Amino acid sequence: MNICLSIGYPIISSRSPLMHNAGYKKLRIDNQFIYLSAEVKSENLKIAIDGIRGLGIRGVSVTMPYKKEVMKYLDKIDKDAKMIGAVNTIVNDGGKLTGFNTDYIGVLEALGEKINLKRKKVAIIGAGGAARAIVYGLNKKGSVIKIFNRTLDQAKELAQEFDCQFSTLDSLEEVINMDIIINATPVGMNEDKSSIDKNFLNKNQIVFDVVYTPKETRLIKDAKQIGAKVIFGYEMLLYQGVEQFKLYTGFDAPIETMRKTLIKSLK
Ligand code: NAP
Repeated sequence: MNICLSIGYPIISSRSPLMHNAGYKKLRIDNQFIYLSAEVKSENLKIAIDGIRGLGIRGVSVTMPYKKEVMKYLDKIDKDAKMIGAVNTIVNDGGKLTGFNTDYIGVLEALGEKINLKRKKVAIIGAGGAARAIVYGLNKKGSVIKIFNRTLDQAKELAQEFDCQFSTLDSLEEVINMDIIINATPVGMNEDKSSIDKNFLNKNQIVFDVVYTPKETRLIKDAKQIGAKVIFGYEMLLYQGVEQFKLYTGFDAPIETMRKTLIKSLK
């Protein structure tokens, strides 16, 4: 049996086991693959990674807060993950651990269905781990990015790395002129709040919220009301998982089965 795992702290609300196991079942490989989750305290991260080798765990999804820290314990880091500076996926090939980042692919797949990203003006709110993957992916596609963040230094550091503009949240009204607006902060997670004033949105925009609990955040509700196109955070979660599925099993993921399972779990 090939065991795959999500690790993080806390890990209670991870949707990955449901989504991956539904995919294994659909492809009838659930007699070869099983997906579990494990809560790992920070002082145990190194031994947990050694445990992946020791137990022959096939694949590991890394969630908050270990996406950066885990990198030092791996044998190899794929070039995209190196550029982003974070790993959300570990693949174990005979004891050799390679780190990947599928978050940026999740973003591009979620957005890509709706729009050609080249030269599109994109506002990204936030400058943390999710924002890094988003900036990296959109930069590759030739989008023109401006980062807005609560802490200016964080915005500056990320913007300078990828040659973008940056600002604090004080000039958020500028987003009204953007083609795409992405919330990459936790604002709206299990609360009825939005990182962007409704008055700064317009109907020609695409509005994407990385937050996926609740499924329909305040930002998504506001954008829908205005008539903008919306992209749900679960689409990013789905597609980063779809890419992991392929890395772990070698099979193309049954996307619709995984999407349905994910949406059902968010209701
Ligand atoms: P992170 O590295 O901790 O970064 C958080 C960012 O949000 C920082 O830029 C922070 O600003 C900003 N922020 C936090 N609280 C804020 C507030 N109250 N008002 C304004 N800005 C605030 O976290 P992350 O890993 O990027 O995750 C961000 C969100 O994305 C989380 O909700 C996470 O669940 C979600 N996420 C979703 C997916 C998906 O697949 N859909 C994938 C990854 C992450 P400062 O710099 O000022 O602290």
